[in-house]
Amino acid sequence: MRVNTRIAQRLKKIAPSSTLAITSKAKALKAQGRDIVNLSAGEPDFDTPQPIKDAAIAAIESGFTKYTPTTGIPELRELISGKLKKDNHLEYAPEQIVVSCGAKHSIVNAVLALINRHDEVLVPLPYWVSYPEMVALAEGESHFIKTLPENNFKVTPEELKKHINPKTKLFILNTPSNPTGCVYTKDELEKIAEICSAKKIFVLSDEIYEKLIYGGGRHISIAGLNKDIYGLTLTVNGLSKSYSMTGWRIGYLAGPQDVVDAISNLQDHSTSNPCSISQKAAAAALRMPEEFLIGVRRQFEERMNYCVARLKGMKKISCVPPQGAFYIFCDISRTGLDSGVFAERLLNESFVSLVPGKGFGADNFVRISFAAQAEQLQKGMDRLQSWLEKL
Ligand code: PMP
Ligand code: GLU
Repeated sequence: MRVNTRIAQRLKKIAPSSTLAITSKAKALKAQGRDIVNLSAGEPDFDTPQPIKDAAIAAIESGFTKYTPTTGIPELRELISGKLKKDNHLEYAPEQIVVSCGAKHSIVNAVLALINRHDEVLVPLPYWVSYPEMVALAEGESHFIKTLPENNFKVTPEELKKHINPKTKLFILNTPSNPTGCVYTKDELEKIAEICSAKKIFVLSDEIYEKLIYGGGRHISIAGLNKDIYGLTLTVNGLSKSYSMTGWRIGYLAGPQDVVDAISNLQDHSTSNPCSISQKAAAAALRMPEEFLIGVRRQFEERMNYCVARLKGMKKISCVPPQGAFYIFCDISRTGLDSGVFAERLLNESFVSLVPGKGFGADNFVRISFAAQAEQLQKGMDRLQSWLEKL
């Protein structure tokens, strides 16, 4: 066999995840005893809450360790259906919900269920690193819509209209957004919904950061706006970010029954059910009082305000304060460095890790995560400031 035919063409196009790679590198250096400030992690720093752990332990001890229905246990699908109704004004029956191994899994399932070879997917740029790779895996084409800092990195209705063509099948919406932190308003979403409905374009609404919104903003689920857009939207969410459950791998998707059934078949023959123990843990998370999430949000908002204030005092970089999620996307053009060199030098010379913007489609930006303890953030900002001053 010739060497270049060993790996399937479909996978040759897929790059490794820069967010996962850098976060693992920072964690490995820290484990070796190096004094690294990790501002690259896309996960909350706090431990998974005790009631969630207790539910998992009880599941193990009671022998809840076997296959479950592929789409998730009825108890969890009922709870998700209730959550979507209460928090998001979305009417999804439990049968319209598929629980998967993380929101990432839900998104790749959705893309594989909808996209044929050469179908186009509209992806706002900067984008979360995995979207274009998932589209490539489905042999579709990503069509990027460049957004601007002066518009809070949001896609305008005019821009959206301009990029639609007969091959467009799906628009990926991520609010609050990773990496920019932008949050779409109801008015903006209504306009997007109107355009997508008129052109019969599906919307994948990635709402994983919905509980982390700052400055009094509000999360709106596009599927809840009207019947037309409801029939075209796949709503994705998960437990990783809100409950600090990144390692447990539970996410979910809700949508039109035919798409959900296709995804259920796909999951039947790929992963089967998500981990039974994690499903019990997720059920316990969804039963936790809302005050828990409010407390988490408050803590993140304080950290965000601190970091934004510190970054404002640094001459060579600038940022738009995020409205949600836990990242700050900083423009580094004035340093004259590309994002890979910037991140590598900062890590090697001042022991601070952050993520180069290149993986998000913006090589003149870097992403700082403020999902870290206050004293780590202070140390990170001090080091970044003095490194920039010497540059
Ligand atoms: N969407 C976005 C925008 C994310 O940042 C992440 C973080 N990993 C995910 C989806 C997937 O999260 P998970 O698979 O851990 O649920
Ligand atoms: N989503 C997080 C991030 O962007 C976690 C890593 C990943 O899954 O990409 O950093």
